[in-house]
Amino acid sequence: MTGETTGTVQKKKSIREISPIDVYKLLPRTNCQECRESNCMAFATRLVNGELTIHNCPPIFADEYAAARSDLEFLLAPPVRAVTFGTGAHTCTIGGKYVLQRHEFTYHNPTAVAIDVDDLMPEEDLQERVRKIAEFTYHYIGRTLSLNAVAIRSVSGDPKVFAATVRTVAGATGLPLILCTTNPVVMEAGLAEAKDRRPLMYAATEKNWKSMADLALAYHAPLVVHAGGDPALLRSLVKTLKACGITDMVLDPGTLAENGLSETIHTFTAIRASACRDLDELFGYPLLGVPLAVWIGEEISMDVLKWRETITASMLMSRYADLLIMHSLDGWVLLPQLIWRFSLYTDPRKPVSVEAGIRTFGNPGRNSPVLITTNYALTFFTVESDIKTAGLDCYLIVVDTGGLSVESAVAGRYFSAESIVKALKETDATQLVDHKTLVIPGLAARLSGETEEASGWRILVGPKDSSGLSQYLRERWPPKPA
Ligand code: SF4
Repeated sequence: MTGETTGTVQKKKSIREISPIDVYKLLPRTNCQECRESNCMAFATRLVNGELTIHNCPPIFADEYAAARSDLEFLLAPPVRAVTFGTGAHTCTIGGKYVLQRHEFTYHNPTAVAIDVDDLMPEEDLQERVRKIAEFTYHYIGRTLSLNAVAIRSVSGDPKVFAATVRTVAGATGLPLILCTTNPVVMEAGLAEAKDRRPLMYAATEKNWKSMADLALAYHAPLVVHAGGDPALLRSLVKTLKACGITDMVLDPGTLAENGLSETIHTFTAIRASACRDLDELFGYPLLGVPLAVWIGEEISMDVLKWRETITASMLMSRYADLLIMHSLDGWVLLPQLIWRFSLYTDPRKPVSVEAGIRTFGNPGRNSPVLITTNYALTFFTVESDIKTAGLDCYLIVVDTGGLSVESAVAGRYFSAESIVKALKETDATQLVDHKTLVIPGLAARLSGETEEASGWRILVGPKDSSGLSQYLRERWPPKPA
């Protein structure tokens, strides 16, 4: 059977209204398995779940399926458009959201964080700040968290000065650039310096939209549309720019700090709800929040401003900013954002896990301890860090518990005598050491008897917290004869 080229999908549906059957009808339906799925229906189910894309089905790109493919793309397009800026390895994609709440469907494209520089900074300071932005990284449970872009602000209002700053920043980092000025002449000078980098233009307003639209089209650059505190005007500007042929837009409804923050959050929420629930196309673009705004205003202590900036950024990231422009480069301001982003964009249905197997620490010998834990990422990296900090020479068996922590896995029987015996066999631990003694986590103490019986290994109950491993092994290893 071959697929029909229908061209009949007229009405946009939310992702939750799309059934695998809707998708299946538009596939080639040859069950050829080129997608590595058992059949087209299985592929349709994973496509609706966001686990695959239509690019995983090569046959649908044949000419005979062009109309069906177009219907499928329309059907599956997120209500919030995905917009890309930057090029190469650092390309940044924002938006692409399907739902308001993350429990409804996996969130895509984590909120990008940009840090500002301006065109009045002395060259040396500018280089140093860009270097710090590019090198800001934090390793967190196996992931590298970093910043995403540099926002270059024109403070001088001088096209030549702005162009020189854009040139310097573009030469110093491959990070995506955001060019910030409402003066089209200054913007064009900056665009000319970064034309190969697909910068994000900030911003088209009620006053300059025509000139900014012309520049966006000429330089193929995405465009921020700004209408502070006036969603109706924002919507109207988007409609006008869309009619001019602009497709990649980012919405800036304005960010008010301190007393205006609740109004800002309300506006962001209303716009995103309108896009995701009412499928309002004119609000179906990524949202830009500007925590940097806290720095404009009353003179108060730097620490208070930084504190306000971090609060504003966290609130905006939660409701529903896809891109943030910030000023502070302090770790205590940025780390909460990067970790909160990591948590928000982790699929709650899929615990963060690491690969099961056996890990070697230090230089273990034939009588070194063998420890065991689960493959929940936070558990594993905590245990790993404690072992490394203590400089222990040992083996660590990691059991596949579906990404559950020790306590949950014991309660759910994912970490049990059976799974421990299986892991001991699969990792061939007896080939590595001359003893058969296994240290299990203190939180799994109740498994000791049944595991000893099922495995033939002597089971020692370790500390409940891996920070106690060093002292525990100092006092108990090698173990006294049973
Ligand atoms: S590659 Fe496409 S046509 Fe082939 S089985 Fe998968 S979904 Fe069906």
